[in-house]
Amino acid sequence: MTKALAIYGATGSIGSSTLDLVRRQPEAYRVAILTAHSAVETMAALGREFAPDLMVMADPAAAKALQAEVPHIPVLAGPQGLIEAAGEQPYDLMVAALVGFAGLAPTLAALAAGRDVALANKEALVCAGQLVMATAAKSGARILPVDSEHNAIFQCWEGAQRAQICSVQLTASGGPFRGWSAADIAQASLDQALQHPNWSMGPKVTLDSATLVNKALEMIEARWLFDLSPEQLEVVVHPQSIVHSCVTYNDGSTLAQLGQPDMRTPIAYCLAYPDRAPLGGARLCLTDLSALTFEAPDEAAFPTLSLARAAMAAQGPATSVALNAANEVLNALVRRGALPFGALMPHLVALMDRFDRPKIETLEDIVDWDQQVRAYTAASVSV
Ligand code: NAD
Ligand code: MG
Repeated sequence: MTKALAIYGATGSIGSSTLDLVRRQPEAYRVAILTAHSAVETMAALGREFAPDLMVMADPAAAKALQAEVPHIPVLAGPQGLIEAAGEQPYDLMVAALVGFAGLAPTLAALAAGRDVALANKEALVCAGQLVMATAAKSGARILPVDSEHNAIFQCWEGAQRAQICSVQLTASGGPFRGWSAADIAQASLDQALQHPNWSMGPKVTLDSATLVNKALEMIEARWLFDLSPEQLEVVVHPQSIVHSCVTYNDGSTLAQLGQPDMRTPIAYCLAYPDRAPLGGARLCLTDLSALTFEAPDEAAFPTLSLARAAMAAQGPATSVALNAANEVLNALVRRGALPFGALMPHLVALMDRFDRPKIETLEDIVDWDQQVRAYTAASVSV
């Protein structure tokens, strides 16, 4: 049976890899919805190629321009259009590959409508893990993790043996500054920060990998996806990015998933779930690997991991929302050249000490708090 996909963030790195898989297996997948922020030309070309039922542009002016390019396809506009399409259109699986907080509301809308979600948008779980998981549990929708580490855990996770699972080992490449001192990282350039050693990804997550904020967000993501206590979550630096993460059982068995650092593997797993679909490309050849090495993260050079622990220890989502929002603002400023890369981690750590911790619960509360933190963070940086 052909699965109808709603690809949110279709023009990005994960969205493009997803479309590559659809091209390879046109008999297995059909594109029902494509969304993006504002890349009109790319979306017009995708509309012509995949003939989706509906398209959405987050930017209203871009939606208008796209509609003129593809008059035969309905085009919705704005954040409301993203939510409406997620909750009201027919499709089988959403691929949530938008970047940032903008992914939360459409993901929730899909889950509330009982649609399965292949989730790349880790920010949704970071900001509203409890709400997202409860929404899925209520409707019976499945969340399939696209993030490579979480996908690895999912593959090694024997649900019937949940009570025997002691811990998970979340691997991290260490990013371009592995082995650097805090003083040297403070002098690093944006160009150096954007040179990820193993993965080719979108700009926001690439920069997050240089500060290990990405791993901090992934700790919170794993906590919610697998209902883990913070003590059950270990971060291990593994520079080769071959072991994508591990699950340890109480009999001493540690199960790992290995593969080339290619996001098409975890995406293909989510698209085909509960089956597996053949995927061409380079296979892992164990005898070609010179070594697989593992080391503890340097928490003095990367204070960002402790921010995740503090967020997990806090009551309610306010601290996690603040961490995500402040990071999104600082990350964007650094990429625009408005803040030196070296200032990012110290500024984020200092800000996290200054925020209030309001008691928030609903999506409206979370959206409101996100806005307040963004405004505070932007004002805290003199540019
Ligand atoms: P990207 O920047 O390459 O693409 C982002 C997509 O989201 C684009 O299609 C863009 O148009 C859309 N978008 C951006 N802002 C939007 C907004 N405000 N409203 C609606 N749409 C918007 O990002 P990416 O690297 O593909 O990452 C997407 C998500 O997947 C992120 O949450 C990231 O952390 C996660 N992820 C990515 C990778 C990877 O290899 N790229 C790996 C693991 C997890
Ligand atoms: Mg990851």
